[in-house]
Amino acid sequence: MYYPEPIAKLIDSFSRLPGIGPKTAGRLAFHVLRMKEEDVVDFAKSLVNVKRNLHYCSVCCNITDVDPCRICSDKSRDGSVICVVQEAKDLVAMERTKEYNGLYHVLHGAISPMEGIGPDDIRLAELLRRLTDEKVQELILATNANIEGEATAMYLSRLVKPFGLKVTRIAHGLPVGGDLEYADEVTLTKALEGRRELN
Ligand SMILES: [Zn+2]
Repeated sequence: MYYPEPIAKLIDSFSRLPGIGPKTAGRLAFHVLRMKEEDVVDFAKSLVNVKRNLHYCSVCCNITDVDPCRICSDKSRDGSVICVVQEAKDLVAMERTKEYNGLYHVLHGAISPMEGIGPDDIRLAELLRRLTDEKVQELILATNANIEGEATAMYLSRLVKPFGLKVTRIAHGLPVGGDLEYADEVTLTKALEGRRELN
């Protein structure tokens, strides 16, 4: 290795991040070297904090610093509806619409046989556990509008059939192949309003 060990190590860490190639990793590492020490310390603290102080909500699996999370423990929210999303950032997108007042469930992924991700690899068991609560009447499947998202929605709608719930899928004003997190508020609100029943 041509670099002193500390910088080589930092380059290595950056290059493990998604979407960061070795070139970018090098550029970032040298940028850190030029940063003010207090900014570097701040950055390092944020990295550690996000890992130490955030965990999954024991109810909805959203990332949270308190358990249950603020949404699950908010009594003003409608506990009869659960909106199922793939990622925590999709929940944030839904919240931005200010149109939805129910609860959520974050799967942390989608079923993808191509990538070897099966039903047991996402947070489905946690969801099923919640459905035994008779308060829940509707499940809104708000997984992404791509193959994995559709496959997950179909799987889920069959899986929850025995519970006799109303199961809806958000409408596709969403761009096909589009991730929920990139949809603007108006599109997402329309998708939510135009949801249709699956079974
Ligand atoms: Zn929660």
